[in-house]
Amino acid sequence: MKVKLLRYLANLGYGTRRDVEWMLREGRVTDADGEVLYGDDKVPHEVIRIDGEPLDPAPGMVVLLNKPTGVTCSTKDQGRLVYDLLPERFARRAPNLSTVGRLDRDTSGLLLLTDDGQLLHRITSPKSGLDKIYEATLAQDLRGDEGAIFASGELMLEGEHKPLLPAELEVTGPRTARLTLHEGRYHQVRRMFAAVGNHVEALHRAHVGGLDLDGLEPGQWKLLQPADIERLF
Ligand code: URA
Repeated sequence: MKVKLLRYLANLGYGTRRDVEWMLREGRVTDADGEVLYGDDKVPHEVIRIDGEPLDPAPGMVVLLNKPTGVTCSTKDQGRLVYDLLPERFARRAPNLSTVGRLDRDTSGLLLLTDDGQLLHRITSPKSGLDKIYEATLAQDLRGDEGAIFASGELMLEGEHKPLLPAELEVTGPRTARLTLHEGRYHQVRRMFAAVGNHVEALHRAHVGGLDLDGLEPGQWKLLQPADIERLF
């Protein structure tokens, strides 16, 4: 896709239109052979260089982040945001670059961000039914009947009118469990355990679809390649 450089670079977060105008005037924007480019030029993404460096990924990128606790998924909130963990230019692409659903401030683990609206919709649509696997640490011992309740398809959360879809619980210790969900309601895991008289003390998302954190430490991120995105579905 060829778009006018000035607008394109501003949209990619390289600065305001005025900042980008300056970069162009200073001859810092070139093609791969070092030929200076101008604001009205229309050139493919792959050939553009700024100070000799290739551009950040084109629109349509997907970031996989190992979200630490203590950061929020919002674009403007007090305290640390997930965008603070990404390169500044990516952050300037928000809100186009938005989180795919949300994790609570106190939840860690796999979070996707994308500026591909269609993909965002495909992942978050209730029809996608994508598996999301959470690891929960609880305040009290599990009673033993939670798995059957969560699997029943009849559990109604407070303030809602539609029962939850069946979810699978795997007990991994007296106070730890893995829970697989196929939908994403507000604070769903915490509210599900609250509905069975327990309290989630720590929550981590380990998988979304076929993706896992793949050795990323908390706070680390990577760009997904098309093959990774295929693994999602
Ligand atoms: N369920 C929750 O309660 N919190 C999250 O962050 C994700 C799922």
